[in-house]
Amino acid sequence: MSGKILIIEDEDRIAQFLKRALSMEHYSVEAAAEGQQGLDMARDNPPDLVLLDVMLPGMNGIEVCRRLRTTSDVPILMLTAKEAIEDRVAGLDAGADDYLVKPFAFDELLARVRALLRRTQTTAPEVYRFADLELDTGTRQGRRNGILFDLTAKEYELLELFMRHPRRVLNRDVIYDRVWGYDFGGESNIIEVYVRYLRQKTECYEGAPRLIHTVRGIGYVLREE
Ligand code: CA
Repeated sequence: MSGKILIIEDEDRIAQFLKRALSMEHYSVEAAAEGQQGLDMARDNPPDLVLLDVMLPGMNGIEVCRRLRTTSDVPILMLTAKEAIEDRVAGLDAGADDYLVKPFAFDELLARVRALLRRTQTTAPEVYRFADLELDTGTRQGRRNGILFDLTAKEYELLELFMRHPRRVLNRDVIYDRVWGYDFGGESNIIEVYVRYLRQKTECYEGAPRLIHTVRGIGYVLREE
């Protein structure tokens, strides 16, 4: 799925994180660091979806949302702080479609983005295929050589990441960003642990060739031998 996404977020670290990760998903992304600039950009080049931070300098996100709604039905996903429950209510009252609490994992955001875009762009459930491996995004189950296997939430997210980017080396930082979120400490061996789980599940028949390979010192890649 593709689409044009406008990010209105003053925190550069988060704006860059979102820009990088959404571009990798083939969305075209623009970013504004404050509300009026965001409104101008939305008017001049209407996006398919807006990611809108509540805490902005000057005009806050609630007000930006309200003004955007006077001229546009574009889906709006608000980003709110954990403690500010009243912002969520105010955001929905101002016409936002959904909200996400910071800090969030990118895949959580991606799921919301897709759900919102699906309201305007209809798509059938997708099945990713690579070699004899399949991943059903509807049932969230894997299948290899006809053998069906279940996946936990994180296993699914990690495998989906590989299936969306076959033959591409994914470095550890990208994997952390995407599956565990930008606030996740990068020192643990959690990726190794989950790759091991996925290998156990995907190498499900005698002599099944390994598909998830280690690229020493960098990360992992889904490819055939
Ligand atoms: Ca902010």
